[in-house]
Amino acid sequence: MDYEKLADLILPEIDKTIEDYEAIYPKRELKEGAVVTRFAPSPTGFLHIGGLFSALISERTAHQSGGKFILRIEDTDKKREVENGIEKILEGLCEFGIKIDEGVVAEDEEIGNYGPYTQSKRGAIYGAFAKELVKKGLAYPCFCTEEEIAGIRQNQESQKLLPGYYGEFAKCRNLSYEQIEENVKKGMPFVLRLKSPGNAERKVSFKDGIRGKIEMPENIVDVVILKSDKIPTYHFAHVVDDYLMGTTYVIRGDEWISSVPIHLQLFYCLGLKPPKYAHIAPIMKEDGGGKRKISKRKDPEAAVSFYTEEGFPVDGVMEYLLNLANYNFEDFKRANKNAHWTEFKLEMSKMSNSGGLFDMVKLNDICKNVIASMTKEKVYEKAVEWAKMFDEELYGLLTRDKAYSTEMFGFDRNPEKPRKDIAKWSQVRESFSYMFDEIKQNGFEYPENIDKADMKVIAQKYKEIYDENDDKDSWFNKFKDLAVQIGFAREVKEYKANPENYKGHVGDISSVIRVAVTGRMKSPDLHGVLKTLGKEKVLKRIDEFIESL
Ligand code: GLU
Repeated sequence: MDYEKLADLILPEIDKTIEDYEAIYPKRELKEGAVVTRFAPSPTGFLHIGGLFSALISERTAHQSGGKFILRIEDTDKKREVENGIEKILEGLCEFGIKIDEGVVAEDEEIGNYGPYTQSKRGAIYGAFAKELVKKGLAYPCFCTEEEIAGIRQNQESQKLLPGYYGEFAKCRNLSYEQIEENVKKGMPFVLRLKSPGNAERKVSFKDGIRGKIEMPENIVDVVILKSDKIPTYHFAHVVDDYLMGTTYVIRGDEWISSVPIHLQLFYCLGLKPPKYAHIAPIMKEDGGGKRKISKRKDPEAAVSFYTEEGFPVDGVMEYLLNLANYNFEDFKRANKNAHWTEFKLEMSKMSNSGGLFDMVKLNDICKNVIASMTKEKVYEKAVEWAKMFDEELYGLLTRDKAYSTEMFGFDRNPEKPRKDIAKWSQVRESFSYMFDEIKQNGFEYPENIDKADMKVIAQKYKEIYDENDDKDSWFNKFKDLAVQIGFAREVKEYKANPENYKGHVGDISSVIRVAVTGRMKSPDLHGVLKTLGKEKVLKRIDEFIESL
């Protein structure tokens, strides 16, 4: 068969060759050890936490080697595409600080010299690579209808045979030029299939960056490379794109492991060097004693937007994901308390091949630490940023008096042992509600061990001695003096030695004042709270407390 003639018959519109494209996209000049990776999402819905995880692993791998990170949009499946799909992905990546060097950076904007980075704009390129395979006698048109393909599948199922278009089932493999020409002239639709040179008796092996050596039987199926509308399949687009874009390391979900023999075969048939591969296990979730993948449908935390809406700090989420990726991240953090997560060296070989278990408690802990290590100014900035998007009332309250709110975020923010009460910005409202009359909860959590009559006396007497200008020591000494005056112990120690001699101790005095002013038994640094609230609010609240008794 004259394959050149066949190629012109079935892909007449393709006038460029692989060499033409190689000239347009020259080999990258990379420094020793630099790695080029990519994240290649399909715009079929929201960005999944597993997607952010993969993107982070790819981004880190590239950037820590001094290489490049590409964002490619795989939009060949128009049926599954959703509106604003690209925007949603980009928003999620940008929100979490994933820096893209090349590729799609906005709905209609791409940067970099290896584009287009959107598969639907690369039709002619795939055509050129496909035509090359036809010319080499390694691809052929297949005119089988859907019904015929379904019949083959049924037949194979009933005989328990490997499914697919191969061997005796590959009816179109041996069509003559004349038969093909006739079909094409009749306008019969066709797909283009690889004429697989594989042999089921032979094995193909590769070294996965996470799993090590993997060996599988060679591919023998004549897989589709171009669909009837000339749109490439994932397999073909992956090979063409990652070759031309100069990807050196393909890091992707482990659902693709079983397709590696097809991909290696395609590289081989095209005479191209394949990239390195690493296959990431999905993030799992405990469910009813078992484990399952985090699911788009069942779990709100599957969507990256969940973390944004809840207001988990970005660095906390990223630290959590790195912790999930490499068990030694925690040791790194312990040894380098103030280091940013980008300073951690991620190692592919330390990734688990069974899939980390999503742990909300751990995420919360990490986020608490991240927030605790911020300055009060940073907390203010971040909380306001979040509230602006998700809690208008809180936004108004926080920004009404910036100095006041910043002071509030400074309570107990001492560098040695900072208070760790909030894990996410949506907790600011609840945690600090007592600082704003508008959202303060009604009622008081009365201390159980103190008589109401005593509470009243404490509150009344405190009003007389309260001076908003007292420094912390004189402020607390007043509590002690008051304690003694009304039959409470000046020191907790004294009380513990002879509890029968006292009604309580100085700690009870501060509890009463705390409850009077904040409504709750627990609050950060009471002296700071009183000072920040200011005289007017403090006295008004103590009055309300007395009234309530
Ligand atoms: N578009 C593919 C997916 O979303 C990309 C896989 C890959 O990274 O190659 O699964």
